[in-house]
Amino acid sequence: MSVEVSAQAAYIVAALLFIAALAGLSKHETAKVGNRFGIAGMAVALAATVALAIDRDIEGIGLVLLVGAVAIGAAIGLWRARIVEMTGMPELIALLHSFVGLAAVLVGWNGFLEVENNLDGEEALHLEALGTLGIHHAEVAIGIFIGAVTFTGSIIAYLKLSAKMDSKPLVLPGKNLINVGSLVVFAALTAWFCADPGIVPIILATVLALALGLHLVASIGGGDMPVVVSMLNSYSGWAAAASGFLLENDALIITGALVGSSGAYLSYIMCKAMNRSFISVIAGGFGIEAPSSSDTDYGEHREVNAEGAAELLKSAKSVIITPGYGMAVAQAQHGVADMTRKLRDAGVEVRFGIHPVAGRLPGHMNVLLAEAKVPYDIVLEMDEINDDFAATSVVLVIGANDTVNPAAADDPTSPIAGMPVLHVWEAENVIVFKRSMASGYAGVQNPLFFRENTQMLFGDAKDRVEDILKSL
Ligand code: NDP
Repeated sequence: MSVEVSAQAAYIVAALLFIAALAGLSKHETAKVGNRFGIAGMAVALAATVALAIDRDIEGIGLVLLVGAVAIGAAIGLWRARIVEMTGMPELIALLHSFVGLAAVLVGWNGFLEVENNLDGEEALHLEALGTLGIHHAEVAIGIFIGAVTFTGSIIAYLKLSAKMDSKPLVLPGKNLINVGSLVVFAALTAWFCADPGIVPIILATVLALALGLHLVASIGGGDMPVVVSMLNSYSGWAAAASGFLLENDALIITGALVGSSGAYLSYIMCKAMNRSFISVIAGGFGIEAPSSSDTDYGEHREVNAEGAAELLKSAKSVIITPGYGMAVAQAQHGVADMTRKLRDAGVEVRFGIHPVAGRLPGHMNVLLAEAKVPYDIVLEMDEINDDFAATSVVLVIGANDTVNPAAADDPTSPIAGMPVLHVWEAENVIVFKRSMASGYAGVQNPLFFRENTQMLFGDAKDRVEDILKSL
């Protein structure tokens, strides 16, 4: 069997391993195995690519560049993944998507320089003989476009998620017209490029796509960022698939399509969970107006200390814990797990209510609770537990804010109006763990803190949980 055929076979094996990885990652119990399938698939694909390159007589500087790029990329990837905090994951992922986008732009430009810029060259004549030169022109333009939108869009997402940029949506006059107009102009530039493949249309298409990526993501508000991250994940998949067509690499096409479609599906699920229109989010907040900042006076809040909270918990029949981003920042999950054990041993029913976008990445809370060895069967999704709050003695809101905001359910003017939330306020008593009266990620005031059945327990969530443990 020639190296060429073996490499193609290896690509199919890699593709199957990637599909097995996705299947594994869909459940907590099998996520680790899924991850290993993914690593194995990537190792097979990389080995096949290197073997193919050597077989195609890559030598000297080319081989050094190939091995050097893999080594540097692997070293940086390992280093970043080891030191990244769970709470910094979405930023890292957004940054990684920007690399995929940039790579697609470079692959597109390389295709242009090799073929369209050199129409008498070997590669162009070969494509012309096959009758696929026109397709190549379109692939170059589309690959560069998707890659450039992903590149700048991901950088803006990174800046917003890491709070280096204001997370409020940018609302330019006629922003929808700008987005739709850009697509029309891009279609015209692609037609121009296919008819007369020169450097001017391709430069214009690149600049337009870079600007569109900036505008699309800048127009999306902080509350919708989880969807943006998974949407950019999807775009990065399509960018990789576009590169696969240009490079005639089946593994890239299959992997890109898997990432593209699973990312799009995840975005759709998240939009449903947040009651957002999928189309409006992927179209850069199409139809979403700038939120009016609310300065409603909700009155006074009540405070409780750790001893008071422990007393309430001791006398409770049922407790629901709704964790959020603050539990992750404080790394309070181990204390929370100990507290859960103690209460359950004392005969109190304890369950967890998990909002689909609690924390800073999908599944964030589930991962933390699994790490702290909280049993899976008491960790319930929002839809499974939302009807039970009314019959619950005490709800502990540990570092959650937007995901328990009643304004989303009953204030149509709220920027997060319509987003399904955990109905914690229906419980007999609510204790909110946070450090101050500051707002959450979406920057919206939370009327829950001022309700009669709510008491605030101020301080770092980990310290306060430890204090309660002592009192218990
Ligand atoms: P929020 O971000 O709304 O609120 C977190 C709260 O934790 C804050 O009010 C903060 O208050 C408190 N907090 C921070 N540090 C600590 C600490 N050390 N101890 C105690 N409390 C602390 O969290 P939610 O999880 O409720 O909501 C997630 C938000 O993030 C949503 O708006 C969602 O759209 C968004 N998002 C979600 C992503 C996802 O995929 N899950 C991705 C990107 C964004 P204080 O400062 O007063 O302590």
